[in-house]
Amino acid sequence: MGAVDGPGLRSVVFFQGCGLRCQYCHNPDTWQANQGGELWDVPLLMKRLKAYAPYWKASGGGVTASGGEPLLQRRFLREWFTACKAEQIHTTVDTAGFCPLDDDLKALLDVTDLVILDIKHLDNTKHRALTGQDNHHALALLDYLREIGKPVWIRQVIVSPYTDSQSDMEALATFLRGYPNIQRVELLPYHSQGRYKWEKLGLVSELAEAETPSRETMRTLTQRLAEQGLPIAAVS
Ligand code: SF4
Repeated sequence: MGAVDGPGLRSVVFFQGCGLRCQYCHNPDTWQANQGGELWDVPLLMKRLKAYAPYWKASGGGVTASGGEPLLQRRFLREWFTACKAEQIHTTVDTAGFCPLDDDLKALLDVTDLVILDIKHLDNTKHRALTGQDNHHALALLDYLREIGKPVWIRQVIVSPYTDSQSDMEALATFLRGYPNIQRVELLPYHSQGRYKWEKLGLVSELAEAETPSRETMRTLTQRLAEQGLPIAAVS
């Protein structure tokens, strides 16, 4: 169960596999699509999740697909979310948007109530340095979500030296103003809780020594968003 991955209390299903390599990733054990995890089919998943229905109903919650990058398994997600919609269960996908905007993705969005989109960085050069890939897919997805009027929550992890500059935040705020379908913007302070996983997997991050941003830094950056009238969520 989760309380921050969409409205209300939610059952969160983590999907294996991700094409990005974020330097601050706290789930590097989800990167490989064919290692770890378990194989599930939709009837089994629905049966397992139904035990949590009283929590969803009491809190206005539902289910959330997270990862890893859940869009890599978008055909399965569509099948699962279709089963959820048949039972009026609220569906959310929590994604970094690293997925081509193909027919399978569009079909998934037809049965998705909310998209939580993690924009790693608006500047593509910095995005590449931080994740190893371009941000074009994520931005194309955001454009499409505006086109179809799909509710979106935006997230960005704040970590020095990538995402903690006021000028970058002002650029992001100005950019996001062009998307009336954005219901909420959250800035998440980097934390080092996943470092032990990197060490366990024999991986090296250039952010291995990075610190959690100060409350003052988070407050200042949040202010840049608020000045543009964006719907800001409380930062913990
Ligand atoms: S998108 Fe998420 S799972 Fe993938 S590398 Fe980045 S933080 Fe990790």
